[in-house]
Amino acid sequence: MLKLYNTLTKSKERFMPLHKGKVSIYTCGPTVYDFAHIGNLRAYTASDVLRRYLEYLGYEVRQIKNITDVGHLTADDIAQADTGEDKMLKASKREKKTPEEIAKFYEEAFRSDEKEMNILPAHYFPRATAHIPQMIKMIEALIEKGHAYEKNGNVFYDVTSFKDYGKLSGNTLDNLKVGARLEEHPDKKHPWDFALWLKAPENHLLKYKSPWSVGYPGWHIECSAMSIEYLGDTLDIHTGGEDHIFPHHEAEIAQSEGATGKKFSNFWLHNRFLLVEGEKMSKSKGNFYILKDIKEKGFEPMHLRLFYLSSHYRKQSDFSWKTLEQARANYERIAEWILKLKDISKSIGVIPAASEAIKQFESAMNDDLNTPLALSFLYELITETNKKITENKLPAKEAGEILAAFGKMNKVFGLKFSESVTITADAIMTSDDDIKAKLIADKRLEARRSKDFQKSDELRKEIEKMGYLIEDLEDNYRLKKKS
Ligand code: AMP
Ligand code: ZN
Repeated sequence: MLKLYNTLTKSKERFMPLHKGKVSIYTCGPTVYDFAHIGNLRAYTASDVLRRYLEYLGYEVRQIKNITDVGHLTADDIAQADTGEDKMLKASKREKKTPEEIAKFYEEAFRSDEKEMNILPAHYFPRATAHIPQMIKMIEALIEKGHAYEKNGNVFYDVTSFKDYGKLSGNTLDNLKVGARLEEHPDKKHPWDFALWLKAPENHLLKYKSPWSVGYPGWHIECSAMSIEYLGDTLDIHTGGEDHIFPHHEAEIAQSEGATGKKFSNFWLHNRFLLVEGEKMSKSKGNFYILKDIKEKGFEPMHLRLFYLSSHYRKQSDFSWKTLEQARANYERIAEWILKLKDISKSIGVIPAASEAIKQFESAMNDDLNTPLALSFLYELITETNKKITENKLPAKEAGEILAAFGKMNKVFGLKFSESVTITADAIMTSDDDIKAKLIADKRLEARRSKDFQKSDELRKEIEKMGYLIEDLEDNYRLKKKS
């Protein structure tokens, strides 16, 4: 029985879908003005694991992930996010491109990062700019029902009109009075009202016609409009990072429930943040990483994926190069184990999965998707089987059953393994050939470090003759068996 922690009820609840056998998920997607950083990728990996586990349990999942290519202001710390500079426009100035070019470029980059991370693509990625009519329709409904008002071409949500405001985040209007830091808009009735539509200044690049003004939508309305468009008035699960609980998701509830009069989402799942060496990531601190940085250091996206799985999505995770190295070592340990199991079980046909391993895996995952616990069961299994293998006591049938169990679990972990093991400078190798190749590669790294390119070339040829391919990375290398 799957239990998920629901931010709305602040408790672990038994998961039951609205419609038997089917689950709808809405995942807040990227604002496509820059590359996704490793914190964003943690959030998308967390919702990917959720989706994969629901599919593992036999549900037919429909997942929607929006692409924010309009609006979304830079002043996120100003709680209502309707003042400040537009992120898309800022990027457009920075890169001297049109907002459309910026959006296209970073959307492609995002899709490619997700692919490399083996994150299953959502069933649909609706773009905000293509759903302005749906947003306008929803704003009209909100005005009609007394939840929103227009002034000078701007439309705001009247938070005092929605009695449940604060039910997700605990930021009820009474609580918000204390310690509020908020930039006020002269047209707002109440400081916590938030923008649904804003009149565009003359030189604003992205603007649309509406009954109120030529302008652009507030940040929150797109998710309400697109979620309802593709998943109906009520959905099963809404996901996002913890920073979205307030104001974004609180606003989504007020808008959607205000407009439809129905419950918006049954479950709200939020991942906690990823920190880098205990600190918030920021470009100015130089601790801000994107997937490209990870690869340039000689790591693979799968090492990062395993790093993510190694902490529970609802706990803060602390990234450092050292913890990533640990994840790589674990990844290589799993990869070598698979090869050994394949070797032993070779002659066996289709075999049922080892039931004990599956039971442990499911018990961990059923408890609010506890991937670190599921992994620790896997590592125990690896230790046990490796012991049997060294003692020559692992029958082919058992090897096959274990392999089948791993195959099942890995549908959820989503780790990709190539046929040959990748070797890098700090890998621990066991096969004789690999060790020999690695020794030469280490020598070659030394030669490159001392800029002895002739020697480095000679060693490359030697490595290739042994049947390996070597790729240069920044102060590292990647060695692969030729296939
Ligand atoms: P954004 O493009 O800023 O809306 O972020 C995209 C997703 O990444 C959202 O679900 C955020 O909550 C999430 N997110 C942003 N920063 C981090 C972080 N440091 N750790 C984990 N998730 C994050
Ligand atoms: Zn959203």
